[in-house]
Amino acid sequence: MMGQTQHLRIFQPHPGLYAYYDGRVAGYRFMEDDNWVDDGAIGLGIATYALVAGQAALVYDTNVSPEHGAAIRVHLEEQGVTEFTVIYSHWHLDHVAGTSAFAGCEVIANARTAAHLAERRVAIETGTYDGPPAIKPLILPTRVFSGHLEILFGDQTVTLIEANIHSDDATVLWLPERRILLAGDTVEDCVTYVGEPAHFATHLDDLDRLAALEPEFVLQDHGAPEILAGGGYAAEIIRATQRYVRWLAGLQASPEKCDTPLEAIIADDLAAGILKWYEPYTQIHVQNVDRTLEFYGHG
Ligand SMILES: [Zn+2]
Repeated sequence: MMGQTQHLRIFQPHPGLYAYYDGRVAGYRFMEDDNWVDDGAIGLGIATYALVAGQAALVYDTNVSPEHGAAIRVHLEEQGVTEFTVIYSHWHLDHVAGTSAFAGCEVIANARTAAHLAERRVAIETGTYDGPPAIKPLILPTRVFSGHLEILFGDQTVTLIEANIHSDDATVLWLPERRILLAGDTVEDCVTYVGEPAHFATHLDDLDRLAALEPEFVLQDHGAPEILAGGGYAAEIIRATQRYVRWLAGLQASPEKCDTPLEAIIADDLAAGILKWYEPYTQIHVQNVDRTLEFYGHG
């Protein structure tokens, strides 16, 4: 399976914070046939993160394959890390697939993430949940929290905050002293991936909670590599996400607007440099619109 990590790039957006980025590579596919790695992750670009203090690392998501997890581990070991703690941003496969490289380490997640994974474990391990590739073994959380969990990590505070944005089991990492928010899939560039339109109102409220933290840097899992490598997005990406969710929610009253091109919907945020155009998100948008119309009974 040589070559699975051939496009993995390692950035250091902030001291002691590493981003492991794969995808957004023209013409490159992870596998020939249809598969969840290319569709939801490599095609859009995916970054997962590790925060290092001395010999310890907090590994925030483990990327798209065991080989990616192993490459992350090797890189951290080269930095002198010997203690690993994994934290899951949510249960989706592109965020948990590499954890077998950290087998035996503590894996922290919120209770909803733990339940989602446990429920789907057999299907995920046999490659029948989202199709291939299977994740076997799927590593389940070993420590579960709800709401907030504060960790003193080296000389900095790391707060895990549960939210319902993109999925009902998000965990974001907030580093208050440096005003860095590791946002998982709660925001994306260009647009959020909608799986649960029934929760739009909660998504908007919880995005308000993230904005209220007033982060200086937002680093999410799906975004432009050069922006993440350069330190991350401005907090306005949270508001841009809300604007897009409100546009989708507006389809309840005005379903005839469904054919508006994505570029027009987010034009102001593109012009302001808050978002950066990436064409493959047009497919995500079409899917978001379909799911939203179906939920509102216009489907
Ligand atoms: Zn994802």
